[in-house]
Amino acid sequence: MGVKVGVLALQGDVSEHIAAFRDCLAGRSGSTAVPVRHPRDLAHLDALAIPGGESTAISRLIGKNGLYEPLRGFEGGVFATCAGMVLAADRVDDPRVRTLGLIPMHVARNAFGRQVDSREASLDVAGLAEPFRAVFIRAPVATEVGPGVAVLARVPEGIVAVRSGRHMAFAFHPELGGDLRLHRMFLAGLGV
Ligand code: GLN
Repeated sequence: MGVKVGVLALQGDVSEHIAAFRDCLAGRSGSTAVPVRHPRDLAHLDALAIPGGESTAISRLIGKNGLYEPLRGFEGGVFATCAGMVLAADRVDDPRVRTLGLIPMHVARNAFGRQVDSREASLDVAGLAEPFRAVFIRAPVATEVGPGVAVLARVPEGIVAVRSGRHMAFAFHPELGGDLRLHRMFLAGLGV
């Protein structure tokens, strides 16, 4: 059976997420990656990506589009990157962001210092045989995770990759750079 992945398409690097999941699903018949803007778009999705971008803006647009309750009740897996990791958390250091509470963790925005716009690091991620070339762009970190959250990677600033049941969140951008190992790990975790 085909796999259907949605990408929350309110703000941020939506097209990169769609392209990465389409690459990942290529050759699997009936599988698609589609944009999600309204509650009705969540129907029949196996998974949802919450992209990088600006979490304050995405938070405002989630409210405007009536997506808070539908997203909180989403039954598929969530693949959240950067601003998406901020939104997926249940606590954040910025009151302008209303989180979705999908993963029990506390997140600090822009945790690498305001002057550091972006950086790359070769990161050891639990479950990957070789390091992952991680691109951090004004990235958050998790400073604390709740029970049942597996920490998959950390840097001196904090936790940068987690798995919580069917959800995964990354402070960096696995959708950039063409390395789809984390996407595949996520889909395998959903059993699809
Ligand atoms: N700094 C952004 C935020 O907290 C995230 C940046 C990103 O997604 N690349 O919303």
